[in-house]
Amino acid sequence: MARHIFKFISVFSLLSIMVLPIFCLAQGQNKIDKLRINAGRLEQRLEKLAEFGKIPTGGVHRLAFSEDDIRSRIYIRSLMKEAGLEVRTDEAGNIIGRRNGSRADLPPIVFGSHTDTVPSGGKYDGAVGVLGAIECAQVINENAVQTRHPLEVIVFTDEEGGLVGSRAMNGTLTSEALKVISLSGKTIKEGILALGGDPDGLAKVKREKGDIRAFIEVHIEQGAVLDSENIDIGVVEGIVGISRWDVTFKGFSNHAGTTPMDMRKDALLAAAYFVIVVNKIVRNEPGRQVGTVGMIKAEPGAPNVIPGRVVMSLELRDLSEEKIKSLFKKIQKEAQAIAEKSGTKVTFDFIDTMAHPALTDPEIRKYIAESAEQLGLTSLFMPSGAGHDAQDMAKIAPTGMIFVPSIGGISHSPQEFTPMDNIVNGINVLLQTILKIDSGAQE
Ligand SMILES: [Zn+2]
Repeated sequence: MARHIFKFISVFSLLSIMVLPIFCLAQGQNKIDKLRINAGRLEQRLEKLAEFGKIPTGGVHRLAFSEDDIRSRIYIRSLMKEAGLEVRTDEAGNIIGRRNGSRADLPPIVFGSHTDTVPSGGKYDGAVGVLGAIECAQVINENAVQTRHPLEVIVFTDEEGGLVGSRAMNGTLTSEALKVISLSGKTIKEGILALGGDPDGLAKVKREKGDIRAFIEVHIEQGAVLDSENIDIGVVEGIVGISRWDVTFKGFSNHAGTTPMDMRKDALLAAAYFVIVVNKIVRNEPGRQVGTVGMIKAEPGAPNVIPGRVVMSLELRDLSEEKIKSLFKKIQKEAQAIAEKSGTKVTFDFIDTMAHPALTDPEIRKYIAESAEQLGLTSLFMPSGAGHDAQDMAKIAPTGMIFVPSIGGISHSPQEFTPMDNIVNGINVLLQTILKIDSGAQE
């Protein structure tokens, strides 16, 4: 009998030894899956941050390197400390809050955004991403979750003035860029000094490929797709590339009273057809590419003179440089046809590729979409038409971006608005995405 009991206990112990860790792991995973941010705390902090540079219209005017920017950073640093992060300012003025992981050999999972605004901007652009990132770090800390990877929250320097902090991080902030006078009146160099950085030591800020496990940024969409389609989360596929040209139609300036209609070489009339053709060609293809003629100048510019010369801008944006090229070819061909019909000549001068497309990482996109689904949220894969620090980070690290709706697609305006529920959804998706990346593919 005793032997039987002994046997039973042995088998039971053996089973326990085998099953218990699995059970505990499952429990641990369950706890992690159920982790949610503190919505009230995040809302209160968003309101408080909006006090720095608050304008009477309800918006925020917090230019990079201004007194308000500097004061708001003291507040941000205090929140990072409250979240259990070790805080420092790097040589580019970026604020970095770090929490160690269990594995010192693993690169950090990095998340954050910016706190500077455009002149008379809103209180969500950038702020949502920064305060949301700190909130995630704080929830992880409060629940004593031990991540394998170190975690880093970054507040980038002067995003609105030209992605200064993130360019320093990928090594493309040139000494020429430091001379540029920012909207605060300070040069970028003086501004970085005012934030406590060291413009002569920028090389130390640079991170190489492999130095960062992942970078994730939450941002308001700044467009109306999510709002109009009633979708909770945008899984950003990439930040679009931007190419610009000057387009010139040359006709013949002549008397508007004496030149019969069939004898004119009206450059502005040709340009008008061109504007319509650009719109048609861009809209006729599947995808979310955009094309714009945003500037037009007719010469000589008098009511009684047929315009002899028109210069216009052409801008094309898409995630694929190939698509931009093929759209441009079609536009060029049609412009040629317009020129022939109107007796004018057309030329295209390439101005610049303002930005190359920056694609997000497929694995991180998948984690974001899975996290949204797990939280019962709808999501949509979409491009970002606006620039973000994430585009610079994508050059050195697997990058992901999470969009939350902007009501009416309004941004860079005091009217910018995202309901708190949407923000909370986006930050919970960020939290779960960080945790998935951390426990994902085991290095
Ligand atoms: Zn922004």
